[in-house]
Amino acid sequence: MKIGFIGLGIMGKPMALNLLKAGHELVVYDINKTAVMELKKTGATDAKNAAAVAKQCRVIITMLPNSPHVKAAVCGENGVLESAERGTVLIDMSSIAPDVSREIEKVCAEKGVKMIDAPVSGGEPKAVDGTLSIMVGGDRAVFEEVKEEILLKMGASAVYCGEIGAGNTTKLVNQIIVALNIAAVAEAYTLARKAGVEPKLVFEAIKGGLAGSTVMDAKVPMILEGNYKPGFKIDLHIKDLANAIDTGHAAGAPLPLTACVMEMMQTLRADGFGQDDHDALAKYYEKLSGIRIGI
Ligand code: NAD
Repeated sequence: MKIGFIGLGIMGKPMALNLLKAGHELVVYDINKTAVMELKKTGATDAKNAAAVAKQCRVIITMLPNSPHVKAAVCGENGVLESAERGTVLIDMSSIAPDVSREIEKVCAEKGVKMIDAPVSGGEPKAVDGTLSIMVGGDRAVFEEVKEEILLKMGASAVYCGEIGAGNTTKLVNQIIVALNIAAVAEAYTLARKAGVEPKLVFEAIKGGLAGSTVMDAKVPMILEGNYKPGFKIDLHIKDLANAIDTGHAAGAPLPLTACVMEMMQTLRADGFGQDDHDALAKYYEKLSGIRIGI
């Protein structure tokens, strides 16, 4: 199938590569020309803008940073809706505000374009392996149409969560749990170091118990090495927590712990660490406590 792919960053590039590997034909676009060149080398065709992608493809995937980027690429000048034919399927895999998903879907529907929101979890390693967890909102029939041949070529699972926006609401739940889990790990390992127990031994001792988690397995080795290379940037996690807090306020769901970790991340950004991996929450604790958690 000929698929359009818009947004070839840390996540979009390996996801697009997996679609190519699965035998799909790809037409790609990104405002970053280097990313486009890299995809072209692997057999994709480039287009001069999102509208030019839509002219050639009946299925289009967007993988962009946040709500304004998706709005611009879909509804803006030279955007998808300028030239998409009726019946085109738009799969937005970016993590954006659920109410913006609903807003964009309405505009798409007016033009006969069928949009689902399908954000992902798993980070770059799982994007590379094609084992992402995909959470989907929108018309169930559209989801079924693209599940096997497209979504499951990028992910190990694709779960239908409800109406349009439900994918992104699910993603916000995921992002709260990840942020709080990393903060808990950073706080607890600071205690270990301060109280004189080697953090590496703590990790070995507790990773198989109830405190063990995917977050602990992925992030503790990085924190112990002082590795803050993204992965998932503090700036992007701030974006998700801001969307979570707005969504929580609108829905009447208090999020006190989320607000607390949001302020830790805001402090890190103010200190110049916004482009670091979100495991840099460890740096927040290192500054508070005056010690290094890792080596
Ligand atoms: P990224 O910043 O690495 O990539 C975004 C890409 O979009 C860039 O290449 C940028 O040039 C391009 N872009 C921006 N505006 C554009 C526009 N108008 N038209 C075309 N291209 C445009 O971000 P990422 O890490 O790949 O994340 C993408 C989305 O996936 C985000 O919503 C993020 O929250 C989510 N996500 C990221 C991770 C992760 O670990 N990095 C994990 C899960 C979900």
